Amino acid sequence: MTFLEKNDSFEGKVIVITAPSGAGKTTIVQHLLNKYDFLDFSVSATNREKRKGEKDGVDYYFLSTSDFKKKIKKGEFLEWEEVYPGKFYGTLSSEVQKAWEAKKHVIFDIEVKGAGNIKKKYPNHSLAIFIRPPSIKALEDRLTNRKTETSRSLKKRLDRAKMEMTYEHEFDKILVNDLLEVALEEGEEMIENFIIK
Ligand code: 5GP
Repeated sequence: MTFLEKNDSFEGKVIVITAPSGAGKTTIVQHLLNKYDFLDFSVSATNREKRKGEKDGVDYYFLSTSDFKKKIKKGEFLEWEEVYPGKFYGTLSSEVQKAWEAKKHVIFDIEVKGAGNIKKKYPNHSLAIFIRPPSIKALEDRLTNRKTETSRSLKKRLDRAKMEMTYEHEFDKILVNDLLEVALEEGEEMIENFIIK
């Protein structure tokens, strides 16, 4: 019997995973999604360029700037941010609806300000986890090894990461991502305590 079959009265919850860019949150979110079938990923919308290997509707809904702005006007976003100059990212309310209708809890991979806003929308049904990288140097190394950034965009990401590190006290739990294996186990424990126990 799965967890969901045991629970007839479903109450949708949200898990927000946030971190400075390059702290490893996507790896952690993907691990949790693979492990727990009661979780559903909230696919965000963005107007940034698609990276190699990314799929529309899976990693993001890739929109033109004008389509993104139309959705803002129509009130389709639960939250949105201009994360880098001219680069918009937002959570569509329909993603949460869709997951809850399927009796799944929603997991988000978003930056710190959006994460704080989601937490405020669902104060009693949310767990917000901040992933702390071991150091700014470790972040720089990860972003460099990922080879997705130019030196200019790397600098923008690092500047933003330094600002984002000052937000950690706003979240429910802090997960230090030094040794990935340890971080994954600690992340599992946090989710299980919040959802299952
Ligand atoms: P990337 O370009 O590396 O995919 O994402 C850049 C940043 O935007 C990351 O910190 C990512 O978590 C964040 N992000 C992704 N989706 C959303 C969203 O829907 N809302 C907000 N506020 N940030 C998001």
